[in-house]
Amino acid sequence: MHVIYGGTFDPIHHGHLRLAVELRERLGVPEVSLMPCHVPPHRDVPGATSAQRVALLELAIANEPGLTLDNRELGRNGASYTAETLRQVRAELGPEQPLTMVLGTDSFASFDCWQEWQRIPELAHIVVVRRPGPGLESGSVPARLLEERAVDRVEALYSAPCGHILELDPPLLDISATGIRERILSSRSPRYLLPDSVWHEIRRLGLYGA
Ligand code: ATP
Repeated sequence: MHVIYGGTFDPIHHGHLRLAVELRERLGVPEVSLMPCHVPPHRDVPGATSAQRVALLELAIANEPGLTLDNRELGRNGASYTAETLRQVRAELGPEQPLTMVLGTDSFASFDCWQEWQRIPELAHIVVVRRPGPGLESGSVPARLLEERAVDRVEALYSAPCGHILELDPPLLDISATGIRERILSSRSPRYLLPDSVWHEIRRLGLYGA
């Protein structure tokens, strides 16, 4: 099974990395593929370019063979649509191999606003990671989609190439990239929230106002 965990990773931090390791173990896969998405350049805040976000991610996973980088969305210009990305990955994997994308509840709550969202369950399984917050609004399209497609065991993801939705509730670290950027901008230390190698590179490049 191929597992994709997407995000802006601006910058990657221990919350992301811990979740990726938990996913690898819980889903029983040899590796989880981290996929940074394209974001328009920041105008108001000193930010990182796509190439810099990737460089930080590469440093973060350098000694962890179970985590890999997929930077295909950065190769495209403009917005990266998940359905288009999954179609590309599906073409590479062939029709039989299970493909799973991972989302937080917050992202899944607005799933029906995504471009071609109806196509997504025809391409991949979805793992929804429960995050603190309001959860899904009952009766909403995502809530109904979950009801129709929910499975309660990881094994079900291996029984079909796509179409199932599994909710997981792994322990999450209370870390956000926004909080890290704010700390750096106000000259407070983000140490222990992200790998030292990443923090070192952020300072070397002078990112986020460091
Ligand atoms: P920002 O603060 O800039 O919004 P973020 O830290 O939430 O960033 P993203 O790159 O937006 O990070 O997140 C990528 C994915 O990781 C999303 O699916 C998000 O739900 C999840 N995620 C973010 N922070 C954590 C965390 N601390 N633990 C587990 N998952 C997280």
